[in-house]
Amino acid sequence: MNQLRNHDVPPQKLFIEGAWQEGSGETLEVLSPIDGQKLTTICRATPADVERAVASARAAFDDGRWSRMAPAGRKKVLHRLADLIERDALELAVLGVRDNGTEISTAIKAEAGSAAATFRYYAEALDKVYGEIAPTADNVLGLVHREPVGVVGAIVPWNFPLMIGSWKLAPALAAGNSVVLKPAESASLTLLRIAELASEAGLPDGVFNVVTGQGSVVGEALALSMDVDVMVFTGSGGVGRRLLEYSARSNLKRCYLELGGKSPNIVFADAPDLELAAKTSAMAIFRNAGQVCVAGSRLLVEDSIHDEFVAALAKHSAAMKVGDPLELSSQIGAVNNLTQLEGNLAFVAGALEQGAEIALGGARILQDTGGWYMEPTIVTGVKPDDAIAQQEVFGPVLAVTRFSTDKEAVALANSTDYGLAAGVWTSNLSRAHRMVRDVRAGIIHVNTYGGSDMTVPLGGVKQSGNGHDKSLHAMDKYYDLKTAWMQL
Ligand code: NAD
Repeated sequence: MNQLRNHDVPPQKLFIEGAWQEGSGETLEVLSPIDGQKLTTICRATPADVERAVASARAAFDDGRWSRMAPAGRKKVLHRLADLIERDALELAVLGVRDNGTEISTAIKAEAGSAAATFRYYAEALDKVYGEIAPTADNVLGLVHREPVGVVGAIVPWNFPLMIGSWKLAPALAAGNSVVLKPAESASLTLLRIAELASEAGLPDGVFNVVTGQGSVVGEALALSMDVDVMVFTGSGGVGRRLLEYSARSNLKRCYLELGGKSPNIVFADAPDLELAAKTSAMAIFRNAGQVCVAGSRLLVEDSIHDEFVAALAKHSAAMKVGDPLELSSQIGAVNNLTQLEGNLAFVAGALEQGAEIALGGARILQDTGGWYMEPTIVTGVKPDDAIAQQEVFGPVLAVTRFSTDKEAVALANSTDYGLAAGVWTSNLSRAHRMVRDVRAGIIHVNTYGGSDMTVPLGGVKQSGNGHDKSLHAMDKYYDLKTAWMQL
């Protein structure tokens, strides 16, 4: 690992038409969150570069080199890509950690591991998708075909670039589409590497292109393109809104949005194991320094156990080691960028001004490393309308609020614009089912928090989004339905 840590990362190019190409714009410095030092540069692509990438994807789609390849052929390529990701898993994980700061103990499984599993899942799924024969009248035949949509534009964030990128890329490619992907400015390196591995795996040139640079330039150009048929996006609500505008201003392309969360983790006094609940709740918010879309960032605790539970939670959280994300012992890595870190601290300061109190942490630490690190932070006495209870911090900051009845717990849980994830801890089976029914969220964890796998969809309700990644359901985004109505 030490060798990989010190590898020079050469200046990066764009990946278009199956080859590295120079961008026509300037470059952007990539700073590592580990020490704040320059890691490499990426291209600031221009709208003209985006146009080139889209044209390459369009040509590849139209001539059928991938879209009309027999499913068995596509399956083989995607499995080969998974093999190559597994071959290079450690290299990919270390490169990703140097770029985005996630602790390696999380990244190795959640990034390279999950990417390989995702490609395998959709490789296996792609030849199980059938068309339909509609139950029409006798003398007609209604055939329902599923066709790839064409060119997919994908824009992804910096928190788990490889995992989230693969959640878009794998089903899009499996369905026969071409893709132009735009990674986040501060987490582009592993996805550029995946493009190279995809070529090595036998993906035809032009089918997968990567353009890097500023969201407001590159992402905008991609989302405004008249030749992109569908946009898939994971990121903030603000940018999600813009994508809908870009769609309205261009070709009305469908936009599938996976946005933020302010997920409630509800602990009742009858939780089966309060110590386990406290430990898991700490992981639920502090893993990857809180930069997890489904993080349990609002803890709702029943009044009668509030003090005891917060004390147990603080004990477990304080024991989590913050530090160099390339050390296996680190349980909380770096914050991805300085602006994000300053934003986290501002949320804490704002909460204190509104009368909340700090039960743990609250400060930037390890400044001597030059990197961006923050203590796991627990803020108690948070009122439902406080900014820290309503807005996504996307950092290692937990907001704690008390409740005394089931009704109040549900009202608090549903009191934000978000609806991504939730957790409920109780021994009462009926209460668990009622909570699953009444809390508005895309995923509800019962007596655990954070688990899931490829077999279940991930997506939000309310302003947390309108699409699902993972599972067979994700494939629907990448097909159009076509009806053939045939007189017999
Ligand atoms: P962000 O919205 O700032 O950026 C996401 C991507 O959009 C980046 O690639 C960025 O370059 C691009 N972008 C920025 N401005 C753009 C524009 N005007 N047009 C087009 N593209 C533009 O989000 P982030 O800070 O990278 O990531 C954190 C956010 O992502 C959080 O809100 C988090 O909750 C969310 N997220 C959601 C999920 C989920 O599955 N729901 C998963 C992970 C992260």
